[in-house]
Amino acid sequence: MVRHRQYDACVIGSGAAGGVVAAVLVAAGWDVLVVEQGEHVPGGTYLHDLIPGFETARARTLEGEWTEEGYPWTASCVGGGTRFYAGVSLRLREVDFDASAHVAPDALPPAWPFGYAELRPHYDWVERRLGVTSDGGLDPHRPSPPHGLLPAHRQSARGAALAAAGRSLGMSPFPMPLAVASRSFGDAPACTDLTTCTDYACPSGAKGDVYRRLLEPLSAEPNLTVRTGLKAVRLVADRAGHVRELECLELGTGRRESVSARRFVVAANAIQTAALLLRSRSEFAPDGLGNAGDLVGRGLCMKVGQNLTARLAHDLPEPPPASGGRYVTVAMTDHYLDEDCPTGLGGLILETAPLDPAERADPRLLRLECLMADQPMAANRVRLDWSTTDGHGLPRLVLDYRPHPVDLERLAYLRKRAEELLTAAGAVEVTAEPMDCTLGSGHLHGTCRMGTDPRGSVCDPAGRVHGMRNLVVADGALMPYPGGVNPALTIQAVAHRVARSLVESGPR
Ligand SMILES: Cc1cc2nc3c(=O)[nH]c(=O)nc-3n(C[C@H](O)[C@H](O)[C@H](O)COP(=O)(O)OP(=O)(O)OC[C@H]3O[C@@H](n4cnc5c(N)ncnc54)[C@H](O)[C@@H]3O)c2cc1C
Repeated sequence: MVRHRQYDACVIGSGAAGGVVAAVLVAAGWDVLVVEQGEHVPGGTYLHDLIPGFETARARTLEGEWTEEGYPWTASCVGGGTRFYAGVSLRLREVDFDASAHVAPDALPPAWPFGYAELRPHYDWVERRLGVTSDGGLDPHRPSPPHGLLPAHRQSARGAALAAAGRSLGMSPFPMPLAVASRSFGDAPACTDLTTCTDYACPSGAKGDVYRRLLEPLSAEPNLTVRTGLKAVRLVADRAGHVRELECLELGTGRRESVSARRFVVAANAIQTAALLLRSRSEFAPDGLGNAGDLVGRGLCMKVGQNLTARLAHDLPEPPPASGGRYVTVAMTDHYLDEDCPTGLGGLILETAPLDPAERADPRLLRLECLMADQPMAANRVRLDWSTTDGHGLPRLVLDYRPHPVDLERLAYLRKRAEELLTAAGAVEVTAEPMDCTLGSGHLHGTCRMGTDPRGSVCDPAGRVHGMRNLVVADGALMPYPGGVNPALTIQAVAHRVARSLVESGPR
């Protein structure tokens, strides 16, 4: 067993949350080790080329049948999901911080332990550091006006057609805020429309992923060490309330290592974070760390959503490019709060570009996505099957998730509104693409919910695991309610708040 020096902090995961935490702690002078199981991916890599190497999970299909093909990742690499994301950077809405009036009676309490005003400065920090573009002040539900952001991107041909259709229905389309530079920004060039951004590691640096914006610029700092190909296996407690070290597995060699640190920050994505706490059983925590109340892993939220493709009667007014352009340039929040939608809470409608090049060049094809929060349910959970092991000899990861019937009704309502929009844009045929969110999702939240009452939460509002002195969660696992917009900006703002609280909590 190899041992290292004792770091001030060990951050597990280098994605949206871990990248932010590491950047804050390193800037504060802490000696930081980032443990990342993935590798560096060169610019120009497609996500689908990496996926076959990712571990799978046991999961349920939409019909409830078990399969071994669950996907417990956003992406596993330095930078995590942000390396491949589309850069959509929306803030949660005020209602998302307390949706109590809008959830099903059998849902877990959805209220966050703090409101939007508390998170606002942390959103500001992330937007400034990543280089997020403005919505032009046109998003009617944005909780505070955009300030100091990069100019909005030009609408795509499809975005312009959707926006015109939306306006004809009295809706308020707006430019989607993106962490994709619309003009040169720091060392980053303006985006030159190489691809659709999503599922692709940007080679130019125009996309504000956490590797390019936060970690790479710190790579020469003596107080940051990033270890790749190293899987966090188990946090080892040496007494009640205290983690002494992290057991790791070097994936290339199968060698075991132990990492020692004063603080441990788990930011591995809401599924893997819960799995790590559950694997960390000991005499001091027989059911896993932070799990005395059987809450770790529960409340898994993966959102409900669906893409719709429309065939138009006429060509788009402007021909779409066969390649390049952004994945999404236009969004609408008109049905976010909608009393006709079951529970009164609808969701977001956003343009999505076809990824297939032939479809992309098709001037009669429009595509959009309906996206909504899902109910936080105790029964929807990450758990471990200790009777079966995976390729590393670890207990099998299980995603036990079924969509709530009310969420399927809400989605049907939003789909109807989206179909009306597509019809107004000239659609003669609309096809709903299959839903597969139960097998995994890029939108992961809720498995180590934060709250003030240890009986109803795993972590306190600063991310500290209740009852633990040196263990903190920093990713979407903390979110008691996911909200209905894409999550990365909020996950990063929460991570920034957690990291600032660590720095302010005193000597490292
Ligand atoms: C194709 C795609 C497009 C997307 N587009 C958008 C978008 O436009 N806007 C948006 O808001 N969101 C988007 N998302 C989602 C977004 O990427 C995630 O919400 C975000 O990255 C989650 O942040 P995280 O820090 O929780 O986890 P991640 O970013 O997934 O990072 C977790 C990291 O931890 C590592 N890890 C996990 N377990 C271990 C372990 N045991 N030991 C060591 N390391 C470990 C993983 O390898 C990974 O690198 C997209 C996702 C994908 C895949």
